[in-house]
Amino acid sequence: MGGRRVTAAPAARPNAPDRFDTMATDTAAAEPAATEPDVDQPDADATGAPDLTVDVPTLSAILDGPYADIRRTVREQLPAYASVLVDAETMTRDDFRERVLAVVLEMAATGSTAMGFPAEYGGGGDIGASIAAFETLAFGDLSVLVKVGVQFGLFGGAILQLGTQRHHDAYLADVVSGRLLGCFAMTETGHGSNVQALGTVATYDPATSEFVITTPDERSGKDYIGNAARHGRAAVVFAQLEVAGERHGVHALVVPLRDEDGNPLPGVRIEDDGPKMGLNGVDNGRIWFDPDGTVRVPRENLLNRFADVTEDGVYTSDIESAGRRFFTMLGTLVQGRVSVGAAGVSAAKVALTIAIRHGLRRRQFETGTDDGQEQLLLDYGLHQRRLFPRLARTYALHCAQEVLTGQLHDVFSGIATDEESRRLLESRAAGTKALATWLATDVIQECREACGGAGYLSENRFAALKADTDVFATFEGDNHVLLQLVGKGLLTDYASEFSDLDQLGTVRFVAELAVETVLERTKVHKLFEQIRDALPGGSDEWHTDSGLRDPDYHLAMFRFREEHQIGSVARRLKRGVDSGMDAGEVFSRVQDHVISAARAHMERLVLEAFVDKVRGLGEDVDEDTRLALNLLCDLHALSAIEADAAWFMEHGRLTAQRSKAITREIGDLCRRVRPLAADLVAAFGVPEAMLRAEALIGEDA
Ligand SMILES: Cc1cc2nc3c(=O)[nH]c(=O)nc-3n(C[C@H](O)[C@H](O)[C@H](O)COP(=O)(O)OP(=O)(O)OC[C@H]3O[C@@H](n4cnc5c(N)ncnc54)[C@H](O)[C@@H]3O)c2cc1C
Repeated sequence: MGGRRVTAAPAARPNAPDRFDTMATDTAAAEPAATEPDVDQPDADATGAPDLTVDVPTLSAILDGPYADIRRTVREQLPAYASVLVDAETMTRDDFRERVLAVVLEMAATGSTAMGFPAEYGGGGDIGASIAAFETLAFGDLSVLVKVGVQFGLFGGAILQLGTQRHHDAYLADVVSGRLLGCFAMTETGHGSNVQALGTVATYDPATSEFVITTPDERSGKDYIGNAARHGRAAVVFAQLEVAGERHGVHALVVPLRDEDGNPLPGVRIEDDGPKMGLNGVDNGRIWFDPDGTVRVPRENLLNRFADVTEDGVYTSDIESAGRRFFTMLGTLVQGRVSVGAAGVSAAKVALTIAIRHGLRRRQFETGTDDGQEQLLLDYGLHQRRLFPRLARTYALHCAQEVLTGQLHDVFSGIATDEESRRLLESRAAGTKALATWLATDVIQECREACGGAGYLSENRFAALKADTDVFATFEGDNHVLLQLVGKGLLTDYASEFSDLDQLGTVRFVAELAVETVLERTKVHKLFEQIRDALPGGSDEWHTDSGLRDPDYHLAMFRFREEHQIGSVARRLKRGVDSGMDAGEVFSRVQDHVISAARAHMERLVLEAFVDKVRGLGEDVDEDTRLALNLLCDLHALSAIEADAAWFMEHGRLTAQRSKAITREIGDLCRRVRPLAADLVAAFGVPEAMLRAEALIGEDA
């Protein structure tokens, strides 16, 4: 089936009877712990191992999962727009913005940008497919991607999720077709992460049944808003709703910005944000609404799914708490975060494809082999060490994104209707976005360096990848702020009654509970209890002979870390409050522990997603392809443990000997991945035309 025969030893998987192959031998246990050398030893079983054949189409199908069709459609569309990658470097900023708009509109005409909208408005009616389409589009120019995200995901998504039938009927068909271009105007110069403190006001005027939109001061101007500087004719504006002198918190309204000729409407002032570090095909800008009250919109423009104002000026909402109402509204916009995380993983795939293929062509230094040839970069252990754990992590994040997309689809398609599913989705989306976008930043940088000076040339894509993905860590929620959200969810166990607790409320809440209560409420505690007994040798003997390549060992390590860190946060919060310290000060001091716990939680979810994916492979998947995925899964888990070895050692879960054994094992796994590397990146299915990089990977490289 198109696979290539290559030589790679299968993963040895000691003490893992439920693992997928039966060729395991316990290399770790066989080593005398006390006399282990500090350096890598040659791989004892690297020679004479059975060949592995990775079947690329099979692996691609595994990765593409349930949305293979839409992914194929977008992959087929992308090469027609490959020239945009060049235009980004050669056109003026103004021209490039127009070019990007033209591509977005062409794509809209094919329907592939509207998969998430109901069919009656020209959409595909499948939210999971819309994420898969976006993820695949991220193989191409990222200004195009972000413009698509702004128009259909943010602007259209806000109307769809926060609006009701009247808004859907009035706008969605035009949004889907691209006839009505719009903005998602939430952030202000003064406030980005703290959206509840926005300054823009929407005041209801019962005399005219209109809302008056005002920007009270300069710093309350909307800022960084995509589509604002040039193309947007309307915006979903987030503003403090004021009715009869009373504030009801942040709500969203549709506000026209420009006339048919593209001129700002009376009372609307717009300014270009100017050149950016990347994404210069997107026209980000600032918007102010005349403080004297020139900008008025009909009452019906309030997106009223969660709250409304009657004609005579009475505010109504089924959700009593203003905080909960606000978080419920934001929760419906979670798709944006899921999309950005997915795009981060795709950008990492592009970088890895280029760097690994380059490493298979580029030779440097003779190493005394008979043929007198210089050695391929990818045959250097260091090169493997730099690229393969990142390749493995990219596979892991891919699996985590797939789980997240599935959950998003279930919640938004009415398949999962319970409140807990929604809260878990929101937390998972926040955390996965953070990890996936940081993955992109890390992978792209390492791959750029792995391509040497050539990696620095714009034609080899890294310049744009770096510049365009950098902001993924910030928009759709700053990553650190998002991890704090994850931390809050962990500490309150996602209970709806605590959903509107702010940071200080969370501190006080946790401080009132016994630490054991906090832990017992968490899911990880139950998981840890389950797996403790499944550990080979029992949990107290982890440092001796349990299998290094046993996924249950990996999971137990990840779960132990998570549980311990949540407990540590709870303990610190409690101690701080009990000592009489102000709750704000306590939170500030414990914040880094909250982030660590949230990260540990997310790392556990990512690993579980990868392990589950491999364990769940269908019987039709050949053994070699399974083994290849096993290798990557082990490599990902062990690399993550190695990266945090100091913590595990500090907490008695890793001896020095075992830590060294893990490091050796990673080297061994890298050597085993080496012959498969070309196929493992081929399975990502990045269209050749989107790689560019002729000089690095082309025929004459
Ligand atoms: C290119 C681009 C496009 C964008 N597009 C849009 C758009 O179309 N629509 C829109 O509404 N917005 C958009 N944004 C805005 C974006 O969502 C915000 O920039 C983002 O939410 C961060 O807000 P901020 O810039 O105010 O940063 P801040 O909130 O000021 O954060 C700055 C730093 O402080 C840290 N920090 C903040 N709060 C805390 C805390 N409580 N504890 C510890 N640390 C903290 C953060 O981690 C961060 O490192 C865009 C931004 C950019 C750059």
